Amino acid sequence: MSETETARRGAGSETGRPPLIRIRNLHKRFGDNEVLRGVDLDVREGEVVTIIGPSGSGKSTLLRCVNLLETPTSGEVHVLGQQINAKGARLDRIRRDIGMVFQQFNLFPHMTVLANVIEGQRTVQRKSAREAEETARRMLAKVGLEHKADAKPRQLSGGQQQRVAIARALAMNPKIMLFDEPTSALDPELRAEVLDTMRELAAEGMTMMIVTHEMGFARRVADRAVFIDGGQIVETARPA
Ligand code: ADP
Ligand code: MG
Repeated sequence: MSETETARRGAGSETGRPPLIRIRNLHKRFGDNEVLRGVDLDVREGEVVTIIGPSGSGKSTLLRCVNLLETPTSGEVHVLGQQINAKGARLDRIRRDIGMVFQQFNLFPHMTVLANVIEGQRTVQRKSAREAEETARRMLAKVGLEHKADAKPRQLSGGQQQRVAIARALAMNPKIMLFDEPTSALDPELRAEVLDTMRELAAEGMTMMIVTHEMGFARRVADRAVFIDGGQIVETARPA
């Protein structure tokens, strides 16, 4: 990363802007299984935070509490200044502002790549067909897949499918992107293209929380790496 990129990306923390994500004493329990046991974490605008930890340590649950795919048992999760796990929180707004990319790409197999990227903009954002298509083509170009607009997902490699999933999330114009092991389902030779796409997003200033086992990526791209074990943050470090 260039020095100017670093300077610009770090700006959020120096200007005292409030964090886009603020997590306080977060607990999540499934029955008797206390999966998150008092997590505190701030993510500032433009920051890239990787979450690293053993299988079953609560990484996915933590991400899912940030967009309320899981409801916290106790504690506070604030996103863009709003406590999202409080009564009366605007779930639709929260979901609109947060994009999520999963290990499994979950593209609609019967729809073209373009239609996949258009879909949410039409059903959730109620955009016009024309505007949605224009945005979809722009986002496909951004991930380097304009030329695959008319293909079906099965005609694409896993890495390309994941880049479509990223384009689909970006088409909703999110302020925050959450990634849950986005390269774990991919063959090693297909991972770099997805990581490159994520690196470009980071360089553009996107605020990102990324669960990953890719230590090299964490070292090069993340501002901070958070180690989670047994449902608690055990260490926070500058990845280098
Ligand atoms: P990680 O992503 O770090 O591998 P997870 O957050 O997926 O860990 O899971 C942490 C623990 O929570 C595991 O023991 C898992 O079985 C449990 N868990 C996750 N989701 C659910 C759920 N929806 N219902 C019950 N248990 C769950
Ligand atoms: Mg997980």
